Amino acid sequence: MSVPTFTEHDATIPEEGVLTVVDPRDGSVVDTVAVDTPETANEAIRRAWRAQPGWARTAAADRSSRLTEAAGLLEARAAQLAEINTRETGRPTGEAIDGIRAGVATLRSTAVLGTMHGGTRLAGQAYCSDYSRREPRGVAVALTPWNDPVAVACELAAAALVTGNCLILKPSEHCPRLGREFGRILTECLPEGVVQTLTGGPALGAALVSHPLVGVVAHIGSSSTGRKIQRLTADSGVHLVLENGGNDPLVVDAGVDPQWAAAQIALGAFANSGQVCTSVERVYVHESVAGPVVDALVHQAEQINESGELGPLVDGALRERVHAQVDAAARAGARILVGGEIGQGPGFHYPATVITDCRPDMELTREETFGPIAPIQVVGSFEEGLALASQDRYGLAATVLTPDLAHAQRAVEELCVGTVKINEVFGGAPGGSATPRGASGNGCGYGPGLLDEMTVVKVVHIAPARIPGVAAPGGVGDEG
Ligand code: NAD
Repeated sequence: MSVPTFTEHDATIPEEGVLTVVDPRDGSVVDTVAVDTPETANEAIRRAWRAQPGWARTAAADRSSRLTEAAGLLEARAAQLAEINTRETGRPTGEAIDGIRAGVATLRSTAVLGTMHGGTRLAGQAYCSDYSRREPRGVAVALTPWNDPVAVACELAAAALVTGNCLILKPSEHCPRLGREFGRILTECLPEGVVQTLTGGPALGAALVSHPLVGVVAHIGSSSTGRKIQRLTADSGVHLVLENGGNDPLVVDAGVDPQWAAAQIALGAFANSGQVCTSVERVYVHESVAGPVVDALVHQAEQINESGELGPLVDGALRERVHAQVDAAARAGARILVGGEIGQGPGFHYPATVITDCRPDMELTREETFGPIAPIQVVGSFEEGLALASQDRYGLAATVLTPDLAHAQRAVEELCVGTVKINEVFGGAPGGSATPRGASGNGCGYGPGLLDEMTVVKVVHIAPARIPGVAAPGGVGDEG
């Protein structure tokens, strides 16, 4: 029997009537939230559609300053939102605040980008104006996940709004209260109908993406949902931006400091309990450093587990899927060195887990595992590690730890992913826009490229009119 995988999973939260929000730290009920119906969705989209021309004609500087104002409100309410984030998804409050701060920075930087975003002047005839201009797509629908909910929502909302689209936000069914609070901040700063937040799960999301008045759908979430949205919109031609799941490799080359390499792996695999789209999902370690790297990683994983600071997984179903993948790998010959067991306590915790002797045919290394797992495979050469890293249907990001510049250059050239990171598992300059490959999505879900996704291009040619008795300027087309 095949192991159930995260990306094949459908959200199972019942949608009729209310969403029951559960605190993953102890399983207690946080709240119930009303689900918006397809009728409400239709009304909201129509309201957005009516408001959109006015918003598009609002000066870009004004749109931008409203986003800056929203950034200030979000910053002021960060602690309150982080607390809701923690209760709804179990994310440790410090990490939740970091995510909200990232969102604040995005609102501010996108506000600046918005005032500069435009078309180009074209080289045409004298006395003519030839240029391209960017225009909003109309109504944008943003479907966001629960694992970094505010940072991700800020990316989509800022790019959609600053370019003159009206926005329907549909936060994850795991954190509807947080989504509503975030949406409220935006509506406080924007004209009526420009931003609306609806709460619900996959059925509501499906109704939104299928609506004929929607001009662009941006989905940040799992690959299986991304494929469903592609199928749902195949006939409508609506523009899709899909930032989906990943199965990111990390390659450890010969000659690196084992303690440092282990710390990079631990950060990549265990941050946010492994619930990061760009978490390290598979590790290929050169045999010359494998022993000390694995020893140091085991030590670090033990310390993390003893600290009690690792947050839970978002729900029991995810924990079962993660454990099923670990368990299947162990039954197929992999060795669990630390973790790999579900404890007795309340909530949906799963320990930091280090598992060696993994192989490419295991579900654990073939599929995204949204949990704190570091699956290790020892390789005989850098080339072998790079080849294994490249063999995957996903293409979100990859990390290579190497002191060898030629190896680094080779990794940049050969890895078919949106983002390559050399010698740092998380990091990079702000404003990077990457295109995910394969099952990881389509289009640019972040940064300046997202403003392009939210707009369409119009080319304009303006020539002088012919007026009786008036000579054409410069003799253009002048027949006397
Ligand atoms: P998900 O796809 O289940 O949900 C994301 C959003 O899509 C939610 O709002 C959900 O209600 C909606 N949705 C679900 N089914 C739908 C359908 N049939 N039609 C329309 N909308 C639908 O993802 P998730 O479980 O919330 O998030 C975890 C996943 O997101 C992981 O795979 C992770 O890698 C990915 N992720 C990717 C990025 C990235 O930038 N690439 C960032 C964060 C998370």
